[in-house]
Amino acid sequence: MSLESIYTIMGVAPEVSRFCLETEDSLKERFAEIDRIAEVNQLKVLKAFQDNNVSEACMTGTTGYGHNDIGRDTLESVYASVFHTESALVRSQITCGTHALSIALNGILRPGDELLSPVGKPYDTLESIIGIRPACGSLKEYGITYRQADLLPDGSFDYDVIRNSINEKTKLVTIQRSKGYQTRPTFSVSQIGELIGFIRSIKPEVYIMVDNCYGELVEEIEPSDVGADLVVGSLIKNPGGGLAPIGGYIAGKQELIDRCAIRLTTAGLGKDVGASLDVNRLLYQGLFLAPTVTASAEKGAIFAANVYERLGYKCVPNATESRHDIIQSIVLGSPEAMIAFCKGIQKAAPVDSFVAPEPYPMAGYHCDVIMAAGNFIQGSSIELSADGPIEEPYAIYFQGGLTWYHAKFGIIMSLNEMVNAGIIKL
Ligand SMILES: *Cc1c(COP(=O)(O)O)cnc(C)c1O
Repeated sequence: MSLESIYTIMGVAPEVSRFCLETEDSLKERFAEIDRIAEVNQLKVLKAFQDNNVSEACMTGTTGYGHNDIGRDTLESVYASVFHTESALVRSQITCGTHALSIALNGILRPGDELLSPVGKPYDTLESIIGIRPACGSLKEYGITYRQADLLPDGSFDYDVIRNSINEKTKLVTIQRSKGYQTRPTFSVSQIGELIGFIRSIKPEVYIMVDNCYGELVEEIEPSDVGADLVVGSLIKNPGGGLAPIGGYIAGKQELIDRCAIRLTTAGLGKDVGASLDVNRLLYQGLFLAPTVTASAEKGAIFAANVYERLGYKCVPNATESRHDIIQSIVLGSPEAMIAFCKGIQKAAPVDSFVAPEPYPMAGYHCDVIMAAGNFIQGSSIELSADGPIEEPYAIYFQGGLTWYHAKFGIIMSLNEMVNAGIIKL
């Protein structure tokens, strides 16, 4: 059966299939480079499994206190091997990426210390943790201060301001790799390495952590390979490979991981407790699949940028620039276009494909938000999903795709809906 015929069966108009397949044809070289990186990372992950003697016994979990949880402890060694760090904390008790970042900040900082972000405003959910926005339990309540060096207008580091922001109180520097939902570029690992080098030339003993969300396994190296003391992320994004049902990780220097573990559990217990229940196997399998799943999501993002840029829409990153995470934003220019786009993504989903997403007022946002996600795991953004605030410039954020074919089909369906709604003429 030809691809065109299966697309017709799936409800795609012939001109939409044709346009998308033509676009895909132009991406062979870029996809080959992504496949090369995925293969390198696949073997890096495999070697970490083998070097740590992952065994059948590791696949089952413990209950209660979770003493002697060989699966959990070995998984943490595997993560440490993948990130080339001394130690790691990989736990189902870490509820999300925000929680993992909060554990790291609270684990390392003490009253009187100062936190510095040299890359501008951090991810939204960190504002309450730091106390940028007043919140119960923030670092600010405990007498921990915060300083921020904004990026220059072109998105590069403002070295002068960073130099002047480092003082005797600066204990920890936090660098966010992905742009998240901002318009700045995502940093490459080598850019992060340069920034780390600069910071260490001013204050060698300062701790440096990287919010690694959405960046894992996109490149051959990670921020921990270029001097970061700690990397932090969510298991319902890249490293969970779509199979991890919950969890977060922190990988880094032994001394810092021990402090994070104490913060996660309690003084005196640290890493020793925390039953893994039944998730070990899924966390292993997810990490094992993560290099190819991440590559699929990345191909989907590149395909989306190429389809929509060809139609005249502004895409960030654009169709040709290099990628350092899996997020794609497309400026669609109207609420109607955002709704049609999301409808298409939803129609392409394996779960809840029969529902139509609509804008709604969501807590924490000052305007309506639309989201499309037909997920196996609630909120998982390594699965095909799209969302965005219904406000100028009407940009949609697209990410994920457990397989390349599914990510591709999601984009095809989004275009099909835009064509059906009369927003685009091919
Ligand atoms: C997703 C994300 C987070 C937080 O993740 P949650 O799991 O939603 O709490 C933090 N930083 C960045 C850059 C992210 O993309």
